[in-house]
Amino acid sequence: MKKHNFNAGPSILPREVIENTAKAILDFNGSGLSLMEISHRAKDFKPVVDEAVALFKELLNIPDGYSVLFLGGGASMEFCMVPYNFLEKKAAYLNTGTWAKKAMKEAKGFGEVVEVASSADANYSFIPKNYTVPADVDYLHITTNNTIFGTELRTDPDVNVPLVGDMSSDIFSRPVDVSKYICIYGGAQKNLAPAGVTFVIVKNDAVGKVSRYIPTMLNYQTHIDGGSMFNTPPVVPIYAALQTLRWIKAQGGVTEMERRAIERADMLYSEIDRNKLFVGTVTEKEDRSRMNICFVMAPEYKELEADFLNFATERGMVGIKGHRSVGGFRASCYNALPVESVKALIDCMQEFEKLH
Ligand SMILES: *Cc1c(COP(=O)(O)O)cnc(C)c1O
Repeated sequence: MKKHNFNAGPSILPREVIENTAKAILDFNGSGLSLMEISHRAKDFKPVVDEAVALFKELLNIPDGYSVLFLGGGASMEFCMVPYNFLEKKAAYLNTGTWAKKAMKEAKGFGEVVEVASSADANYSFIPKNYTVPADVDYLHITTNNTIFGTELRTDPDVNVPLVGDMSSDIFSRPVDVSKYICIYGGAQKNLAPAGVTFVIVKNDAVGKVSRYIPTMLNYQTHIDGGSMFNTPPVVPIYAALQTLRWIKAQGGVTEMERRAIERADMLYSEIDRNKLFVGTVTEKEDRSRMNICFVMAPEYKELEADFLNFATERGMVGIKGHRSVGGFRASCYNALPVESVKALIDCMQEFEKLH
């Protein structure tokens, strides 16, 4: 049976990305050696990193003066690297979910943290708006897509301070105005590569301004200077990321990724809104994530939740159980998810509706 992969992360990758990576694991560039057996300093590996960096810059239209880094540690490591490198006295955070809250917690170890707004009281079911950002903060940190709660901030906010963005789960799904940010980061395992590599886009001249000592490995300058090669980088996930970047470019770039994301999300949200059995969990329609689509059973059908999960699983749907903090269902629709998978899920929802 065909599987439809709605996993939240690690998650679906284009088939050719997996195939090309598998080939390189068996034989890298006809060298007779596996990608896993060669030095990261081997002359054939440097072009992999160089091309991945160049494609990042091209696809996201990154202005001059920024570096693209491939690091270890996950997005969670960036929760501490960001304040380590940028927070001198005070930073602002928009609290839109579990990940935002974790980022904020780390920052508190480095200086004063201003929570400009929060939707915690409403179980993060919307993105707060009309907040004010103090003019004297070093940056405003936002989580552009809240993977667990299914909300998304798709416009890079206009504020009078530099932005830092956790884009773990929506990178390459829309154009971004990188010039508003001093740092954009994310774990690769949602929309880019297998787990194990973290991407960081950092503005070079924003680094080196804090007065504290920064441990070498946690200092962005180390990795800017070293071209992500200060120590051994995660070579296999970087190779896979390059394959994904090539795939995105060949498909038509970020604008085409955005068109597909809109198509998938419009189809699925329309069905959630139409089908009597289900309701969406995000209250403001404009805040609804295109990447992680969350819904629950309508109150009068609450007892059918486990039945629908079984029904859909029997028909090939994978990974649609909602995160425990929201319940219900979450269909993650990342860049690589074909529209056919969304149609298959909608068919399940309609068939199930007919039975009840
Ligand atoms: C998954 C996720 C994280 C955590 O990523 P790790 O790489 O596992 O540390 C952080 N932020 C967001 C928005 C995520 O979706």
